[in-house]
Amino acid sequence: MKYVELPHNKKLNLLNDHDGGWANLEQSKWCLHCNQSFTGLAVRVYEENGRLWLECGTPACGGSPIDWAPYPWWDDKHPATIEYFNTHPEEKRRQDELAE
Ligand SMILES: [Zn+2]
Repeated sequence: MKYVELPHNKKLNLLNDHDGGWANLEQSKWCLHCNQSFTGLAVRVYEENGRLWLECGTPACGGSPIDWAPYPWWDDKHPATIEYFNTHPEEKRRQDELAE
């Protein structure tokens, strides 16, 4: 696997193409694969079959954009999840509706 360094604006575009919701590279997301948060800056970019792909910013984690979320929704007791629902009450309502 060949890792590449992209200029920050290109990396941000790639993050938004593959994942979405990235305002800048300082932003953090959570990875279902490693259960850690990482920043856009830490995300690794690699080249395979002539295309660019993204890998989780946590060292040695092979998580890809489908594993990433703005908060660790898989753990509803997690402080970051509670914090997310405090700042996004409409999301909390939606999840409660789904759970009923
Ligand atoms: Zn990860």
